[in-house]
Amino acid sequence: MQTQIKKDPPAQKLTVFYNSDEISRRVVSLAQEIGEALRAENIASDKLIIISLLKGGFVFTADLIRALYAEGIHPQVDFMALSSYGMGKKSSGKVEIIGDTRENFKGRHALIVDDILESGHTLAFVKNLLKKRGAKSAKTVVFLEKPGKRETEIEADFVGFMVPDKFVVGYGLDSAHNFRELPFIAVLGD
Ligand code: 5GP
Ligand code: MG
Repeated sequence: MQTQIKKDPPAQKLTVFYNSDEISRRVVSLAQEIGEALRAENIASDKLIIISLLKGGFVFTADLIRALYAEGIHPQVDFMALSSYGMGKKSSGKVEIIGDTRENFKGRHALIVDDILESGHTLAFVKNLLKKRGAKSAKTVVFLEKPGKRETEIEADFVGFMVPDKFVVGYGLDSAHNFRELPFIAVLGD
């Protein structure tokens, strides 16, 4: 499906890659996978803290925590704002904390939630940071993954969907601060 969103200027063509039904179904099955893993490791859900990475991760996090509720998982939720891109489309490799969490992580289990895994710098940075701050474990879930783009060793514990090596927007992901509101994942252009 192709669609046009009026942005001033220019109007940009979007090609839908995952529609909202596909997204909802995948979020439910991801929550089931996460629930199973937590139960297998005896991680009590009330000992779990979700760290949602802003800005891109906020839409996915909002859907995921409600799908986790259906799995009987009742985490606390906090946020960190990070930047590795600036206004550009390529990771600078340097992750900057723009807004930090004030939570104490000592002895707690964390689940880091991000929109997309590309170079891996963002996820590796947060995982190491939470471990340094005393987290007992730090699992990671990303809604999207671009294979073959990793510049660090990290792999996510849970992945929603794979996407090709194209710049995607929607469902929280932006292009120069636009398109976060789209209820689907789209590729900019054809
Ligand atoms: P990494 O640190 O793994 O290279 O990149 C992670 C961050 O880069 C994501 O959280 C996201 O903000 C941004 N990013 C990577 N690929 C894309 C993309 O295709 N579209 C958008 N909008 N952001 C991306
Ligand atoms: Mg991000």
